[in-house]
Amino acid sequence: MDSGRGVLSTRTYEALKTILFFYVLLKQSVKVQRHLRARGLVTSVREFYTWIARHVIMLVLRMPSAQRKVRTQMDKAKLEIEDKLVPKGADVTRHLALPEKGQTPEWILAEMDKMDNEMGSPNGWKAGKLSGAVYHGGDDMERVIVAAYAKYCVSNPLHPDVFPAVRKMEAEIVAMTLKLFNNPDGAGTMTSGGTESIIMSVKTHRDWARAVKGITEPEIIIPASAHAAFDKGAAYLKIKFHSVPVDPVTRKVDLKAVKRAINPNTIMLVGSTVNFPDGNQDDIEALGKLAAKYKIGLHVDCCLGSFIVPYLEKAGLSEGVNGKYKLSPFDFRVPGVTAISCDTHKYGFSPKGTSVIMYRDAELRRYQYYVNPDWSGGVYASPSLSGSRPGALIAGTWAAMQYMGSDGYLESCQAIVTCARTIADTIVASIPELYILGSPPASVIAFGSRHPKVNIHEVGDKMSRRGWHLNALTGPAALHIACTRLTLDRIDVFIADLKDSVQEAKVQPEGKGTMVSLYGLGKSSAVGPAMVGQVATAFLDTLYKA
Ligand SMILES: *Cc1c(COP(=O)(O)O)cnc(C)c1O
Repeated sequence: MDSGRGVLSTRTYEALKTILFFYVLLKQSVKVQRHLRARGLVTSVREFYTWIARHVIMLVLRMPSAQRKVRTQMDKAKLEIEDKLVPKGADVTRHLALPEKGQTPEWILAEMDKMDNEMGSPNGWKAGKLSGAVYHGGDDMERVIVAAYAKYCVSNPLHPDVFPAVRKMEAEIVAMTLKLFNNPDGAGTMTSGGTESIIMSVKTHRDWARAVKGITEPEIIIPASAHAAFDKGAAYLKIKFHSVPVDPVTRKVDLKAVKRAINPNTIMLVGSTVNFPDGNQDDIEALGKLAAKYKIGLHVDCCLGSFIVPYLEKAGLSEGVNGKYKLSPFDFRVPGVTAISCDTHKYGFSPKGTSVIMYRDAELRRYQYYVNPDWSGGVYASPSLSGSRPGALIAGTWAAMQYMGSDGYLESCQAIVTCARTIADTIVASIPELYILGSPPASVIAFGSRHPKVNIHEVGDKMSRRGWHLNALTGPAALHIACTRLTLDRIDVFIADLKDSVQEAKVQPEGKGTMVSLYGLGKSSAVGPAMVGQVATAFLDTLYKA
């Protein structure tokens, strides 16, 4: 009897092992098959090749002689970064420990002036040769915001009983923004910026999909042109993401590729209005149809579009001109849209550190909350990532929105978008070496080179010499400018500088500027991204050098 039972259990054990083997095999093949379908065979093979090539090259780079070379290069890059950011010399005062005795308010301000003298004026931005960064820049707005700060300096919405007005202001900011995006009955919260709004939305959709659809291995599908905050969120939250290519001409996400990437683990799609790299808009209506059909979320990223895109229609600019610059529907009126992020701290002109994340309804917003009823410190409930939050920033945002009003935002939209279109039209008409990416409907335009002798990143370096801070893009190589109120009366200077820079780049390319050396390594080379990543990491380290 005993031995018989032994045989039986061995057989059962073997059978279980086989079942488990096939279960794992099936699961893995489903994964591989979904991955292949999402990326396509060619891209998957290319990804695999790049992966192998990168590892081989990394192995080669581990050899002592190669290591020495890499280290020399990296040290050089690090020194260059340090030279740019950190002041040198014995006469630089460094505050590396607390002062023995507290300083006077006068001393503090005087010391700040000294620092500005050593490090360069904090008002350099007033020259207005920027892409984005400072969106309003008026003294009047600064006074409005600083007055609001001063009034609510110590406030914290974590304590709504102590700071009741701050709670009310946050609720009103969310309500006003929801109204602007045509969802007055929707719900939302404020966050510390676009990145937090996006990460919160990814978390909300993840928890929603887990609760409602039982999805435990969530995936999101994002256009290649979407903001890095989605990758960042997916990395933080352990979510698989598929980056889907955009059409090379329209710069809109490839809808067929989006559709192919959808599988039962998909929790949400993403579309931008407008995207950061080149200021173009994805087809939100088509994405909404897909989202509704598969019963998944659709996040529309209006972080950059913020208070510009909702006013394009009212400004009579949404139809574009001569078939160019047309804006298609993007807000909650589009069926299928479940969330929209809007940065008040961009074209809302509010202080930095503020954004609004909106949802179609309050039920979806619940999945954003964190609630812990058993914490030893009391029942803990918070709406977003932060615990304590600066009430002063909420007050500053409320003040900026009241100060601007609908007429103010409308006027800003009209002026800024006209400025961007003027720049784009002028580039097309008078700089034959360059072309505009897509047909950007709002405030951001990107331009690349179609002349074999003009490297656009070289043009970027020449523009830096002329005081411009533009953004470099890599897919394809291009530059972009986000027009703001500061750009309005600098169109002529921009065009003149750009013409000169293109000519100089054509006849005297140096190949040594920051953009060329950083992006010259290229996306196509296997080690390019790894090396650029190391330089970027060194850059972050340098930021914390006192
Ligand atoms: C700026 C931006 C964000 C988020 O940026 P933050 O710097 O975190 O405010 C997200 N999406 C787009 C398209 C943006 O331009």
